[in-house]
Amino acid sequence: MCARIIISSLMLLFGSAAADTTDGTDKEIAEAVGFSLSRTPSKIAEWPKQPTVVVCKGAPTSADAVGSAVSWWRSLGYRFWTVIPDSIHYGCLMGEPEGNILIRLIDNRDINPNNLATTYIYYNKASGEILWAEILLREEPRERVLEHEIGHALGWLHYSRRNHIMHPEWIKTGWETTGLRNY
Ligand SMILES: [Zn+2]
Repeated sequence: MCARIIISSLMLLFGSAAADTTDGTDKEIAEAVGFSLSRTPSKIAEWPKQPTVVVCKGAPTSADAVGSAVSWWRSLGYRFWTVIPDSIHYGCLMGEPEGNILIRLIDNRDINPNNLATTYIYYNKASGEILWAEILLREEPRERVLEHEIGHALGWLHYSRRNHIMHPEWIKTGWETTGLRNY
């Protein structure tokens, strides 16, 4: 059983949780737990293997910027296969690319305009394993947005600590990594 969850956002303004909902289908169970603000760093699911990061053609960011954000997570002990730039990967066209983190321009999905970016992760509810993830960007990401969204793609939820990379409000994020180290 596959569950889809929106765990991103990184709100530019003080957004309302009610504006962020998921639309479930028969195959997917929608949850909106990402907007609960945990007091300890917590993860919703785990990658069973190293993901590949695919920068879809037309995404408003560069492979260099994505590579830098991936390196930042690598330095915390996370493993990735590689970053594929400017891609017309099948996942960018049709979705459901197991094993990949896609980064793409936001499409016509109904997403809170207060959010700088939105991440979906698709995971197996029974095993807790992430199948794939999708980071939707509205514009060229400002500082820390890619790192924050990749954090979601790795399964991390929001964390209320000020200056932490996973804080949900961009203005209150920082480079703090409390609880995130993977070694
Ligand atoms: Zn977020």
